[in-house]
Amino acid sequence: MTREGVADALRTTAVRLGPVSATPRLDAELLLAHALGIDRADLLMRQRDLIVPPGFAALVERRLAGEPIAYITGSRDFWTISLHVTPDVLIPRPDTETLIEAAVDHFARREPARILDLGTGSGALLLAALSQWPRAQGLGIDISAAALAVARGNAERLHLNDRADFRIGDWAEGMAGRFDLILINPPYIDQDVELTGDVLHEPKGALFAGVKGLDDYRRIAPLLPPLLSPDGMAAIEIGYDQRESVSALLLDQGLAVAVRQDLAGHDRCLIATARRRD
Ligand code: GLN
Repeated sequence: MTREGVADALRTTAVRLGPVSATPRLDAELLLAHALGIDRADLLMRQRDLIVPPGFAALVERRLAGEPIAYITGSRDFWTISLHVTPDVLIPRPDTETLIEAAVDHFARREPARILDLGTGSGALLLAALSQWPRAQGLGIDISAAALAVARGNAERLHLNDRADFRIGDWAEGMAGRFDLILINPPYIDQDVELTGDVLHEPKGALFAGVKGLDDYRRIAPLLPPLLSPDGMAAIEIGYDQRESVSALLLDQGLAVAVRQDLAGHDRCLIATARRRD
């Protein structure tokens, strides 16, 4: 029997994954790197010296059955960090980096000292921000104890746990204090949307938010003004068609609102700031 080389395994696996994935070649590389216990760059550089380990086939079967890559490998890169993820948390998406980009622009000349992440999930937004601003302190809130366990583990692995606190909570109910930067990626999918693909495996509570996906924005908007420091900003993720509806909720609270697009050109982030009275 001839041993299947890494290059051949990647090629045949990418073909098999074609029907279930938009990124079959990348998936094949990530699964094989995971099976080998190395990162993808190493796999691609050293492929002639490597052999396909026995565990690879089972990982490919899981992907063929529809499981998202990040849940199979247990990790996903976001901004400049790598996060551990489980089915208790949403898989961090590149679109969500738009919120960090907005914050980086806003804080070009001074750094945020206190950062709040509402619905922190894996901790992606909070930990990305803390790695961006090495003197900032952060608080992550989530209603899911299981998600908070994932977030705390990530903070430890990234050596950010001395600057990151995590607490269970229902958005910002009962919270006091002011924050320079508030990051929020709430659930915002309309309750009647039928999901397909990877999202089917993600926690429903992190995705769906009632009629038109606005339920959580309605609850969050009135909580923001007392939590925002005078020069602070809130970066709030929205669905591509929610700019007007969510802006209206924020304007009703006396906040000023701007919008930022993601790399695909979709409205993705609302930037809310205290309106100056001068
Ligand atoms: N952008 C995500 C999606 O369409 C939704 C994430 C969310 O609801 N916060 O799958």
